Amino acid sequence: MKSLIDKLAAQHILSHEELVTLITQRTPEIDEYLFAKARAVREKYYGKEVYLRGLIEFTNYCRNDCYYCGIRKSNLHASRYRLTKEDILSCCENGYGLGFRTFVLQGGEDGTYSDAQMVDIISAIRTHYPDCAITLSIGERSYETYLSFFEAGANRYLLRHETANSSHYGQLHPEKMSSEERKKALYDLKKIGFQVGSGFMVGSPFQRPEHLAEDLLFLAELKPQMVGIGPFIPHHDTPFAGYPSGSVELTLFILGLLRLLLPASLLPSTTALGTADPNGREKGILAGANVLMPNLTPLEARSKYILYDNKICTGDDAATCKACLELRVNKTGYHIVQSRGDAKSE
Ligand code: SAM
Repeated sequence: MKSLIDKLAAQHILSHEELVTLITQRTPEIDEYLFAKARAVREKYYGKEVYLRGLIEFTNYCRNDCYYCGIRKSNLHASRYRLTKEDILSCCENGYGLGFRTFVLQGGEDGTYSDAQMVDIISAIRTHYPDCAITLSIGERSYETYLSFFEAGANRYLLRHETANSSHYGQLHPEKMSSEERKKALYDLKKIGFQVGSGFMVGSPFQRPEHLAEDLLFLAELKPQMVGIGPFIPHHDTPFAGYPSGSVELTLFILGLLRLLLPASLLPSTTALGTADPNGREKGILAGANVLMPNLTPLEARSKYILYDNKICTGDDAATCKACLELRVNKTGYHIVQSRGDAKSE
């Protein structure tokens, strides 16, 4: 097992079978071996720095019906909201004052924001905050639309592939969504010049170790600059309400593998990890993650952007969240820096 980790650390791609072996036969000792290697690699590229992204959840309307997601269109109990351009700019103003230099606009796939409106919002942020990175996370759009967002000043795009296995994808999504379309969108974004983030949930219903190995091999091929992973956590008003949460330990292990697989990548220690374990985000940093995404969404809206049950940080304002994270990160021996936090090249 250690030799497989050494092989990965030496930048040799493992086979599907080798990855399955690692995932299925891990032990606490192997975990620690991996995490030490992962920390050494992240420190080679990023030292002890941890980057912040200010998350602005600007709409929880969604045209999609993903079986796992609390803001899926069929969840009639979700209380829906949209932020205006002015609301979004005021989140950015607040975040800029707190030292954020990346803003992430995330939302459901909400057609009410036309392409022209999105371009207007992106352009306004670009004009007001020329030194900041703008990240979008608003799902699948056409090549032309992505291009218009890029030309308006967006730099990065987060679109988790969710699962690289097309039949598993079909078990998580309605028929009209497909793994092929999702992957195509990621390659479109890359071609346009976005810094691309992909990722998946660990422990989603029906997921097997073989799927996780496929996810890792897909990411090795895509070579995204960012990878967001977190445990699946059920939401009570979805078809997957009765399924168990994903394992925190396995999520941390996959984070460590990702750090070796994509050494210079930006890996967030996600809110889902912090929800599944009170110290999950600190553990993520110690497993190789180097990014945190605190929330800049106004409190009233934030409590409605509920993808899964018991989501943390829905009641604290942005300044409190940042202060809390600073304390948490300092305890790990790493520290938060004020920076755009672009990906380094390998
Ligand atoms: N609509 C955009 C998209 O499709 O990329 C962005 C928003 S979407 C809600 C953000 C991510 O939340 C998804 O990619 C998914 O991996 C994650 N997510 C949704 N439901 C979840 C759940 N129950 N547990 C953990 N993560 C979840």
